[in-house]
Amino acid sequence: MTEKCNIAVIASHAEGRILPETMDLAAFAKRLQNGRPGTVEVLVLGEDIEQIAEEIAIQAGLDVRAVFCSGLAAYSFDAYLALILKTLAGKGFSYICAPQNSQGQEYAPALAALLKAGCISGVNGLFFEGGTVFFQKDVFGGKLKANMDSCAETTVLTVQPGIFRPEGGSPVSPGRVTREEYESVSGKIHPSGIQKAPADAAGIVEAKVIVAAGRGIGNVENMPLVHRLAEIFPKSAVAGTRIVCDRGWLPYSRQVGVTGATVAPALYIACGISGASQHVAGMRGAKFVVSINKDPQAAMFNESDVCVVEDIETFIPLLLEIFRHQQNVNAVPSAPGNEKSGG
Ligand SMILES: Cc1cc2nc3c(=O)[nH]c(=O)nc-3n(C[C@H](O)[C@H](O)[C@H](O)COP(=O)(O)OP(=O)(O)OC[C@H]3O[C@@H](n4cnc5c(N)ncnc54)[C@H](O)[C@@H]3O)c2cc1C
Repeated sequence: MTEKCNIAVIASHAEGRILPETMDLAAFAKRLQNGRPGTVEVLVLGEDIEQIAEEIAIQAGLDVRAVFCSGLAAYSFDAYLALILKTLAGKGFSYICAPQNSQGQEYAPALAALLKAGCISGVNGLFFEGGTVFFQKDVFGGKLKANMDSCAETTVLTVQPGIFRPEGGSPVSPGRVTREEYESVSGKIHPSGIQKAPADAAGIVEAKVIVAAGRGIGNVENMPLVHRLAEIFPKSAVAGTRIVCDRGWLPYSRQVGVTGATVAPALYIACGISGASQHVAGMRGAKFVVSINKDPQAAMFNESDVCVVEDIETFIPLLLEIFRHQQNVNAVPSAPGNEKSGG
């Protein structure tokens, strides 16, 4: 397929700030445009979006359509769906790109259904072969990648944040901002504000060593093993995958990944973590990675410098025991006359 391919990107913003996934989406759309020439346009929806629209046009160097809607102070499912349909339906877009975040995950499938479009969710890779564009997504916990192409006239894509990063530096020229205005859209659900989770004192972002727990830790009773492993290292912290936080084994402030924190410690020890791309996106900056997993095929091993194929419940206690033994050996004072001579 070589015909012109026009791409729309739906911006994500909150509390007057452009969310980073918007710039990731813009980077993704530019990659798509490199292989399938056409236009890229960013759609910004909301009430007070003048500055956001201008900033996106400057930072991304893409044309922006600012859709002003009175009363749309914050993201709303009904309003986004109605406005996207009004502005994009029947305009010949080949791809409509939404972020794979709480907003995009909500409206994108509904949008695809209403447009009678194709829908590929969780895209985290892109390549071209023989004139066809293939979108990739993880399956089986990241062990395999599924390659998909779409034969639909319009395809709605949700793209994982943290994978396609904008190139450094400002684009040569800013995009053009056009404006449209709509009356308020009535909806069934009214967002009533966002409440920040309380900050966790033991921040994982500053930690030099992170011991991260995954579902493979088995149950909450095994969490002390992870904490004791972390205590071995100065400036360390315990973190976890989303599943671990969903289960309440750790607070959400300790979650690493696209919907959690991005960390870059000197050492990252992953305990029972499969290596799903949403987790890996948050820890890719780690300098040295050790993974413990009983599955030799775990995707996490692809990200690791040291791969330990072991059961956590036997390996960590053994490691702690060896460490305790080593400490005791070091603590035993040498008998007089037995001191090693310096040199
Ligand atoms: C929109 C979206 C956003 C997301 N954001 C995030 C995010 O920010 N962060 C995040 O982490 N996830 C995120 N996820 C979830 C992500 O897709 C994965 O489901 C999650 O990371 C998997 O967590 P896990 O590795 O703990 O569990 P699993 O995938 O279940 O892996 C458990 C691993 O433990 C191993 N194991 C089991 N028992 C043992 C044992 N006794 N000893 C050793 N190894 C053992 C298994 O072999 C397996 O590899 C997101 C998902 C979506 C859809």
